[in-house]
Amino acid sequence: MVRQVEVKVFPDKVYDEMYIHSLIHQQMKRDVSSIKDIILVKRSIDARSRRPIYILRYDVYIDESYKNPAPILSRYKDVSEKKTVIIVGAGPAGYFAALECLESGLKPVVLDRGKDVRERRRDLKAIQQVGIVNPDSNYCFGEGGAGAYSDGKLYTRSVKRGKIEKVLQLLVEHGADPDILVDAHPHIGSNKLPVIIAAIRQTILQYGGQVIFNQKVTDFIIENNHILGVKCDETSYLGDAVILATGHSARDIYQLLVTKNIKIEAKPFALGLRIEHQQSYIDQTQYHQEVREENLPASSLWSSYPSWC
Ligand SMILES: Cc1cc2nc3c(=O)[nH]c(=O)nc-3n(C[C@H](O)[C@H](O)[C@H](O)COP(=O)(O)OP(=O)(O)OC[C@H]3O[C@@H](n4cnc5c(N)ncnc54)[C@H](O)[C@@H]3O)c2cc1C
Repeated sequence: MVRQVEVKVFPDKVYDEMYIHSLIHQQMKRDVSSIKDIILVKRSIDARSRRPIYILRYDVYIDESYKNPAPILSRYKDVSEKKTVIIVGAGPAGYFAALECLESGLKPVVLDRGKDVRERRRDLKAIQQVGIVNPDSNYCFGEGGAGAYSDGKLYTRSVKRGKIEKVLQLLVEHGADPDILVDAHPHIGSNKLPVIIAAIRQTILQYGGQVIFNQKVTDFIIENNHILGVKCDETSYLGDAVILATGHSARDIYQLLVTKNIKIEAKPFALGLRIEHQQSYIDQTQYHQEVREENLPASSLWSSYPSWC
């Protein structure tokens, strides 16, 4: 039997396992020997009161032990000889589509107009230092997509997009801190994100998929209303299906779709506004403390939309 238990502790006790387990035992009011495992499933901070408090939710295993789920990666098999799915764009949508292909026994061939996530960094430097913008490798284009050089905030208020646990689990299996599985406002960290993106690429290659950079898709190959593949400047790619994961900034792809008479649908426009404050000021307003106490993370202020601002 598994029971959920919630405990509230001050920051100085949040990593004190013995103390937390004693609180759980008190709440459970049962023989301690029947409790086999205590697993943290959610960690959030309530900063409304004078001193912030951690709210921790645990799954308590009674008379049975917790079983570690098998890694998602263990489900993948070699797909090098399987049906091919051309995926245009190596952003989050493209790479997660590629991982879904691996799981479904399909061979993903990912094409991106930009460079790999490390090489791309040089082009960002050129933008910052000398103001030169490479039209195919910049803040929006290149492996990892538009947010690759951001903080990697992972929470969403959307309830329409299904469960995000699988996405978080896959990120952990590619090197993200397992804390993202339990934190109420998880984030990867700008220094770690490029490494994780490169690890996802390695998984795609390892199981027989392909990732090809410097391939800007400029046209579709269509016959009898069926898309057979895509054309880049010098090469064409044929596949059994094509997924367009070109993101918000690929205006040329929108134009191509219109030219080809392919139906596209406008979504409401989202405008993000970024206001920067000193971290100490944000901490003071959120936590009501002159100096942020130990075990409290650097606080972030969130706007109502978009959620990653
Ligand atoms: C500065 C910034 C910070 C952000 N921070 C966060 C955050 O912290 N958390 C969060 O959840 N979201 C964040 N976002 C939003 C997030 O980046 C996007 O929601 C996400 O990148 C969308 O993913 P996507 O794969 O659909 O498209 P994109 O990320 O735009 O990826 C599209 C890919 O397609 C490629 N492409 C485009 N056209 C072509 C073509 N013709 N041929 C071949 N390849 C092509 C591009 O090179 C790109 O790699 C941020 C966005 C920005 C701009």
